[in-house]
Amino acid sequence: MYDIIIIGGGVSGIGVAARATRAGKNVLLLEAGDRLGGCVHTWQPTAGFWLEMGAHTAYNSYGALLALNGDPGFGNLIPRAKVSYYFLADGRVQSPFARLSFLDALRHLPFNLGLKKTGLDVATYFTRLLGAGNWSKLLAPAFAAVLSQPAGPYPAAWLFKRKQREKAAPRKFTHAAGLQGWLTDLAAGVTVRYGCRVEGLANDADGVLVRLAGETLSTRQVVIATPPDVAATLLAGIDPALAARLSQTPMAEIETYAVVLPAATVKLPPVAGLIGGDDAYFSAVSRDYLPHPEWRGFAFHFKPGLLDEAGKRRKAAEVLGCTPNDFAFEQSKINRLPALTPASVVFAAELDARLAKTPIRLAGNYLNGLSLGDAAQYAADHCQ
Ligand SMILES: Cc1cc2nc3c(=O)[nH]c(=O)nc-3n(C[C@H](O)[C@H](O)[C@H](O)COP(=O)(O)OP(=O)(O)OC[C@H]3O[C@@H](n4cnc5c(N)ncnc54)[C@H](O)[C@@H]3O)c2cc1C
Repeated sequence: MYDIIIIGGGVSGIGVAARATRAGKNVLLLEAGDRLGGCVHTWQPTAGFWLEMGAHTAYNSYGALLALNGDPGFGNLIPRAKVSYYFLADGRVQSPFARLSFLDALRHLPFNLGLKKTGLDVATYFTRLLGAGNWSKLLAPAFAAVLSQPAGPYPAAWLFKRKQREKAAPRKFTHAAGLQGWLTDLAAGVTVRYGCRVEGLANDADGVLVRLAGETLSTRQVVIATPPDVAATLLAGIDPALAARLSQTPMAEIETYAVVLPAATVKLPPVAGLIGGDDAYFSAVSRDYLPHPEWRGFAFHFKPGLLDEAGKRRKAAEVLGCTPNDFAFEQSKINRLPALTPASVVFAAELDARLAKTPIRLAGNYLNGLSLGDAAQYAADHCQ
């Protein structure tokens, strides 16, 4: 009998598992895949060079994660070099500020300074704050690049929350082995079983039964730290009505296509990334924040269903000012994220209240916001 089984080895599950292990509990982390990280996926195509296929930036406001860092002085965290995001206009990089209409902003900002985010979506909030022109030309594409999906419906209350910063850690950072390496380090000491896709849950007199292919495990407590659609399937054996509502959380798919190529072949100056705007991609995130003498790498997060693989290669080459023959390494994957709305904020509180008296807890990026810090903070606050 385990004290706690955590289902899902992304940032949400890792945080819970690491804390419970350090508290001396009998813990098991079950991960369907063959690595930890989930949406944090560091691809290493060649010795000495890696590229993030998913989350790429961590901040010193991610307190719940930094609290688990093995080195209290944060010497293992590498500050990101100062590079910026740009739009591409006529083949040249353009600063986002070039798209800001101060006049439009001045017409709106003074009248909306006290505007509360509660209950508003991002489009409504920022249109009122800075005007419709600034929303459509600048903020909608910039926020879509941050969220890797259309940003308008996202809950304003969950974007750019004010959080305390851990001043001893770099403001924005990565790790020698990328963010997946960092999360894997945070999980040191946790008992993990890989390739274990949980199929269902059932109530038991002493807690919960966790069903895997050909095996059932008993535990006092379960944390479901999977995407919401999977969580809904698992919850169906415990609370079918709640599971049915959770299953309606819409999911956004992102077609990620990453390339690594000799630095000398790229015409683009060093950038943190590009904002796709009306183009076929939400963002193209570079590795230039950790420069390498030989290689550069870019993860293009494409809008779903627009381009086939050949089209993505052509687009990437066009943006980088090279030909597809210059690509030394290529990799594709589908990323999935919940498509959240202000209703998600209300539903998250309801989910928490409804499960409070049960041995089941939920953790994930649909309960407090998409960022690593928000997902980890929710898990720390609700799952111990
Ligand atoms: C392209 C992209 C860029 C991003 N950039 C950033 C960024 O720069 N900074 C930032 O803070 N955030 C960023 N995010 C958001 C952030 O990465 C995610 O919201 C966060 O990592 C989600 O973590 P999670 O643990 O809640 O879920 P997930 O990462 O989805 O993890 C869920 C885990 O559950 C496992 N699983 C699923 N089903 C089962 C099952 N039945 N049994 C067992 N295991 C199962 C999965 O394999 C997975 O490992 C980005 C996301 C994407 C996609």
